[in-house]
Amino acid sequence: MSFLQPDVPGRPGQAPGSVDYRFARRQTLFQFRAGELTRSDVCDAHSELMRVAINCSQKSTAKCPVCEERQLRFVRYVFGPRLPSGGRVVASRAEMRALGDRGSNFRCYTVEVCIECRWNHLLQIEPIGRDKQ
Ligand SMILES: [Zn+2]
Repeated sequence: MSFLQPDVPGRPGQAPGSVDYRFARRQTLFQFRAGELTRSDVCDAHSELMRVAINCSQKSTAKCPVCEERQLRFVRYVFGPRLPSGGRVVASRAEMRALGDRGSNFRCYTVEVCIECRWNHLLQIEPIGRDKQ
């Protein structure tokens, strides 16, 4: 999934083994506001990501930084052993805990999405499960 392949490196996150892309997000928004990126450059969520954001996401309390019309949604994809190659969408904490309890090495990609203007950005990648690395 191309939206899960960041063009810029992340930074180490707060949790061990996690990667934080909030700096890259700020850079993208700065470039957009400076006119270096167009709205179509930054609001390019593809239809599958939009479908998941509408149906299987967690609502954020923060508004979209681009259109400021709607609250953002968090979409979480988990990758790991015995999961589909495109990842598994995890919508609830209970489902996340159940995956973590399986004890394998899983990685969760969290993407924020605006279902109004199609803004989307990878926020972080974090290990989940008992065998975190
Ligand atoms: Zn928006």
